[in-house]
Amino acid sequence: MNELIKVNNLSLGYDKKVVLKNISFSVLENDFLCVVGENGSGKSTLIKGLLGLIKPMKGSIKYNNLKQTFIGYISQDTSVDKNFPALVSEIVLSGRLNQKNINCFYNNEDFEKLDEVLKRLKIYGLKNKSFSSLSGGQRQKVLLARAMMATTKLLILDEPSNNLDYDFKKELYKILEELNEKGVTIIMITHDLDHSNLIGNKILALRSDDYFFGSVLEYVEVLHHGK
Ligand code: ADP
Repeated sequence: MNELIKVNNLSLGYDKKVVLKNISFSVLENDFLCVVGENGSGKSTLIKGLLGLIKPMKGSIKYNNLKQTFIGYISQDTSVDKNFPALVSEIVLSGRLNQKNINCFYNNEDFEKLDEVLKRLKIYGLKNKSFSSLSGGQRQKVLLARAMMATTKLLILDEPSNNLDYDFKKELYKILEELNEKGVTIIMITHDLDHSNLIGNKILALRSDDYFFGSVLEYVEVLHHGK
């Protein structure tokens, strides 16, 4: 498998405060990497680094065959958008904006992609509904669709924490697993520290002074041996 992202001896932080120190890992094409760790361990900081929103203090992040602007990103805080007066189609189409210059109109290809993504997530019926009228679960799917307008190569998700019910979470995980099976590489921050429902094939566990990176199986072993 090809390497999509290589993170080498990376340190990230703010001003003089180092949050992540000397982290190395790689993301291969078709990986499903879960990033776990206590609150404040640096999960969101890592995502900012991967998206290029903050610069490495040390080390490097290298992308192979992938432009940073082509990453589909779904932020944790969906409440910001909740009352946004827009149709589902408009919100999903806006995922295309990172590939356009300012003042550029949507074209046929964009509209075709919109329909394709909505059908893939089985929410085509919501296309002309107002975003604010949707349930929390439906809104999350719309935001996933928006991210998929930007790319079907790499999705980065900051998983919504506790405000989603268990059934919805199961459904979201199922969609993500299906996308992953069809070749989409996924990096997901999960705030759910219940290790019994880990998904994906790799884990990056951030701790205050070290980290674990490896397969889910290796991680479970480490947990059992209490390291
Ligand atoms: P997590 O996502 O794991 O909860 P964060 O990456 O949000 O952790 O935060 C890691 C540390 O970085 C925390 O101590 C937090 O206070 C600090 N931090 C986060 N954002 C900023 C910022 N913009 N400026 C300064 N410190 C920050």
